[in-house]
Amino acid sequence: DPALLLDGICKSYNRGTPAEVRVLQGASLTLRKGEAVALVAPSGAGKSTLLHIAGLLDTADAGRVVVGGTDMSAAGDAARTAMRRQDIGFIYQFHHLLPEFSAVENVVLPQRANGVRGSEAEARALTLLKMVGVDHRAGHRPAALSGGEQQRVAFCRAMANAPGVLLADEPTGNLDPATSDQVFEALMRLVRENGMAALVATHNPALAARMDRVIHLAEGQLRDGPFSPAA
Ligand code: ADP
Ligand code: ADP
Repeated sequence: DPALLLDGICKSYNRGTPAEVRVLQGASLTLRKGEAVALVAPSGAGKSTLLHIAGLLDTADAGRVVVGGTDMSAAGDAARTAMRRQDIGFIYQFHHLLPEFSAVENVVLPQRANGVRGSEAEARALTLLKMVGVDHRAGHRPAALSGGEQQRVAFCRAMANAPGVLLADEPTGNLDPATSDQVFEALMRLVRENGMAALVATHNPALAARMDRVIHLAEGQLRDGPFSPAA
């Protein structure tokens, strides 16, 4: 089974009214285990809508969403939430770390919610923080961290439960080039070593070129495309 299958996804806002906006019109995508795919979309093309549907945060009007072989299209809220917590990791440009908890606790908590023992959860959290070079900040709360450090902690939190699918929106958007590289390398390592599948929305052609393939979102559909946005 692919890690994620989107099949003929349609989504409109204000459906059935004069203000209807048709965003996705038969968008399909197969994301295999162990591959990183760049998602390239002009602003307003429906990237957020697509990521929310793929991440089971929103539902499609039509089409199928299959995560790790399980068809989630008709699943109820409880099943969608369980799947999201277990098998899907999100990274957004604006991360919401829990302000009253330290960096390491922010990475431990999702694991505890998933039934992982405390000592094991902490060990994994520290390994992840080390991979992206913020382990020396493990005991600090988010407010004491720089934006780039917070973003790296958010990356670790998304990876905490070793999700089968990672959905990322400009995951290195506001990092300096060296740090951006480190986070991207960590992401690719998790893809290669854990067989994770990553769908990474980015406007950065250099980043896109380092992934396995590029998918373009335009006119409500997804198409395989060239690495260069100009082509
Ligand atoms: P992107 O992330 O590519 O910028 P979005 O998925 O956020 O695009 O939005 C796609 C289109 O749908 C845009 O035209 C946007 O204005 C519209 N849209 C998004 N959310 C809503 C909403 N809740 N109600 C109405 N229109 C929306
Ligand atoms: P929690 O276990 O904290 O209750 P949820 O089950 O609500 O989390 O969500 C699981 C994942 O989905 C988390 O990584 C969370 O950051 C993300 N998430 C939840 N709701 C939204 C949203 N509206 N927009 C973006 N990400 C969300």
